[in-house]
Amino acid sequence: MDKEVNILGGGISGLACAIILRKNGYKVNVFEKHSSTGSRFNNDWQSIENWSEKIDFLKQIESYGIDVSFAYEPLSELQIHYSNKIKTLRGKNACYLVKRGIGKDCLDISLLEQAKELGVNIKFGSKLDRSVPIKVNATGPKKGNMFVKGIKFSTSCKNDYHMAFGEEIAKGFYSYLLINGGDGTIATAFNSRVAHRSEEFLQNSINYFSDYLNENELSDGKKFGGYAHFEIMKSYYDETGAMLVGEAGGFQDYLWGFGMRYAFQSAYFAARSIMNNESYDDLIKKNLLKKMKHSNRNRFIFEALGSLAYPFVYYLFAYNKKPLRLLNIIYR
Ligand SMILES: Cc1cc2nc3c(=O)[nH]c(=O)nc-3n(C[C@H](O)[C@H](O)[C@H](O)COP(=O)(O)OP(=O)(O)OC[C@H]3O[C@@H](n4cnc5c(N)ncnc54)[C@H](O)[C@@H]3O)c2cc1C
Repeated sequence: MDKEVNILGGGISGLACAIILRKNGYKVNVFEKHSSTGSRFNNDWQSIENWSEKIDFLKQIESYGIDVSFAYEPLSELQIHYSNKIKTLRGKNACYLVKRGIGKDCLDISLLEQAKELGVNIKFGSKLDRSVPIKVNATGPKKGNMFVKGIKFSTSCKNDYHMAFGEEIAKGFYSYLLINGGDGTIATAFNSRVAHRSEEFLQNSINYFSDYLNENELSDGKKFGGYAHFEIMKSYYDETGAMLVGEAGGFQDYLWGFGMRYAFQSAYFAARSIMNNESYDDLIKKNLLKKMKHSNRNRFIFEALGSLAYPFVYYLFAYNKKPLRLLNIIYR
């Protein structure tokens, strides 16, 4: 058995795969083009969904052999908004807030430390010549269906979690305001077709959430942007035969843009394929494709409804006694 594995990309999917393989006795080299992991992000809050699988996310990654050594905050209450209407959604541990970026309390850095401690060989600033055989391609999104524009800021406001729908604040997706422990993130996620309106959506989102934040605090904040790639591929191997994991493989949730859970899951299946000589394509088709297809269907419905989609989603969730159960149903 070839016990040395090269992974291209040292983001969350590449590092998760590296950790699993290393714990199973493989020598692992990770080639990361930037000088640090997490440099695509800005220590902003992101949330890991906890509804698309029966198993709790934290238990799931522990079952893969990944330590939950990163800071997280379980979120069981969320205010949802549409057109100045507001409702509180409740669902135990509906998602886990994590920070993304190069800060020491970020998920990315925590995975990096874990990988380093295990002896994974990480080569930063590495412009790899593809003649080196790569088994796993974990290079993140190459195009974007969803764009995000936001501000990460320090705040004296209390912990508070909001999500808002509306054509003028987040066309095609939603805006969010997440405040936890003095760190705030306000952002708008919108369809890539209207990328040129990013500043307008961000400003409209700030105006919308103005009752819940101190706008003066935003001026010292740091603006960020990014994109996410959803695609159901015909094959989950790249042109050199490397397995595509995370967003490099289009693993995303097309309705909301929650890609982190997929990053861990696809990384696990790639590691399993290497360790057990199982077909990666088959593992993906058996375990991940169904919920990706469901998220694709959910997006199709959302887009088909046009501007009615925002009130539709708001009323669907706001007046449901078990919103988490509803999410379980539309994904599984
Ligand atoms: C602003 C924003 C907010 C988001 N919010 C959420 C959220 O709330 N919840 C959620 O679940 N998901 C969210 N997502 C999506 C989530 O962040 C991604 O799905 C996840 O990070 C994908 O992990 P990955 O390992 O595939 O990619 P990444 O974490 O991006 O890692 C890819 C790595 O590969 C490296 N790389 C790229 N090309 C090369 C190369 N040629 N050679 C070497 N290295 C290379 C990159 O530098 C990077 O370090 C958000 C995305 C954005 C942009």
